[in-house]
Amino acid sequence: MDSLFPASYAASRARFLRDVELLRSRWHSTRLESHLLKNHPDLSIDWCWAEPRQKQTLVLIPIAEHGIEGYVGSAMLKLFMDEYASRLNGETTGLLLVHAINPWGMQHRCRVNPHNVDLNRNFVFDGNFSPTINPDYDLIERFLNPRAPVRTLQAEAVPFLGKVIKNMIHPGKARVQAASLLGQHRYPEGIYFGGTQFQEETAVLMKLYRTALDEYQNIIQIDMHTGYGPRDQMTVIIPPVDPISSVQATQKFNYPLIQKIDAAEFYAISGDMGEYVYRLRDAEFPASNVFVCGFEFGTFGDSLPALIRSLRITVLENRLRHYGAVSPRVAEQIRAEYEALFFPSEQAWREKALADCRQALEGIFSASGVLYTYNTS
Ligand SMILES: [Zn+2]
Repeated sequence: MDSLFPASYAASRARFLRDVELLRSRWHSTRLESHLLKNHPDLSIDWCWAEPRQKQTLVLIPIAEHGIEGYVGSAMLKLFMDEYASRLNGETTGLLLVHAINPWGMQHRCRVNPHNVDLNRNFVFDGNFSPTINPDYDLIERFLNPRAPVRTLQAEAVPFLGKVIKNMIHPGKARVQAASLLGQHRYPEGIYFGGTQFQEETAVLMKLYRTALDEYQNIIQIDMHTGYGPRDQMTVIIPPVDPISSVQATQKFNYPLIQKIDAAEFYAISGDMGEYVYRLRDAEFPASNVFVCGFEFGTFGDSLPALIRSLRITVLENRLRHYGAVSPRVAEQIRAEYEALFFPSEQAWREKALADCRQALEGIFSASGVLYTYNTS
């Protein structure tokens, strides 16, 4: 089971390239394409198109939009390859599998790309990277992005908690959470920076979405993430623009935890990749059907202390990348805590994550009619 979870970006990529060879026998045609990162040509975004004879439905699975989250994503993609690829109706259903939207982040085990951009805040549909969104971020910016090397974790812990409490009372917990997660286009070294222009990785994906919508009537995207939600139950996230409700989706896909992203249920996101697909469909391919969801594998949990713990390590990891730490030991402690948030090593966690992924894939594929049905009469 542990072998499903890769040790490095390179190992994960090599496995992906081997696995796509196995698809060749089942699909009318398959082709592998790559984009080498301009400033890091040793790293690439690789994707495989598996094309059916009749292009009706496309199943799209991208991983590692948030680099480090791609390790769990890679395990789930492997699970898909091993258990589901052969059950899909290859006559009418195609695949677009994207290994590592953010290969640099995956290799360096962080969420952002080389320009500190959170790519899931970079799919700004109209290309207007307005610096005025999320004014609340300004109120807590100094608290979120201290401009100094990290001291010992103990020395950081008490002041951090104090600042959390102070900042959550004024302007308030909900506003702090929304402000920190909404994304921002003003502080290039800050957390949840969405960039001030489209990133290289974003442009690659946008082109793929256009091709996908141009060629297929139905698009089903399942995008893999970690770090949000309860620890013991993966959350399926659906963007607010999809007309289905959480309750309807829970029944339709026979999966216990499905949430629509909105301010109340999840958090508002500017430049969200999933939402971009719906907007592109609305603008240019109005006759197409789109269903996009994210699998969010929770790690720390969703209690208030867990939220504070994850905000704290998010702040410290960002500071470490920009300003360093007072000692290698402190840097190592930050790395370990960050891994615990996005790539847990516990066997029980990994087993449950795989089981949840299996259940959700089964539900979504069954309800979408893309599985082979054997006629027994
Ligand atoms: Zn993510």
